[in-house]
Amino acid sequence: MQIETRIQVADVPEEGLYLNFSELSHVIPEVDGFVKIGNTKGRLEIHKSGNNIEVRGSVKSRVLLTCDRCLGRFHKNVETSFFYLLQPRKDFGAGLETDHRLSHDEVDVYWYEDGEIRGEEIFREQIILQLPMRMLCSESCKGLCPSCGINLNEAQCSCSRQVNDGPFAALAVLKVSR
Ligand SMILES: [Zn+2]
Ligand SMILES: [Zn+2]
Repeated sequence: MQIETRIQVADVPEEGLYLNFSELSHVIPEVDGFVKIGNTKGRLEIHKSGNNIEVRGSVKSRVLLTCDRCLGRFHKNVETSFFYLLQPRKDFGAGLETDHRLSHDEVDVYWYEDGEIRGEEIFREQIILQLPMRMLCSESCKGLCPSCGINLNEAQCSCSRQVNDGPFAALAVLKVSR
């Protein structure tokens, strides 16, 4: 049975709601337009706290990325857990300074509206946060030849390359050794 990722706040019982999602990739087929989402499992624990909603959970996903250097596709496993405090949009930001139990360091504070929690948006954001700044199929990826465009991981070409004697050679060495 498919569990809905949009949860009506009115449906959350006092004892909380515990949801396990065995497959989310049809709900979140991609993020940022170029990252494809594969097998994805998620969990949400939702508790009411006055008008606020506490959402704890985790997500585990296999994403298909494109290497920044060689443009090859590669898989990466991401896994994380999270804790959100959701406030009604009209109350957003109110009362946080006086509530010592929750600080901004410990919890992400967001708003919800229309009495609805959008689980798929939480999962999508958490997956994005796990993606690397630089997407490399491997740290040692050789990339594409700037002259002929051949993938240097798979083949060699006969283009002449002058890599280490230009004016920025010292800079390149510094970058590598950091
Ligand atoms: Zn690569
Ligand atoms: Zn070449």
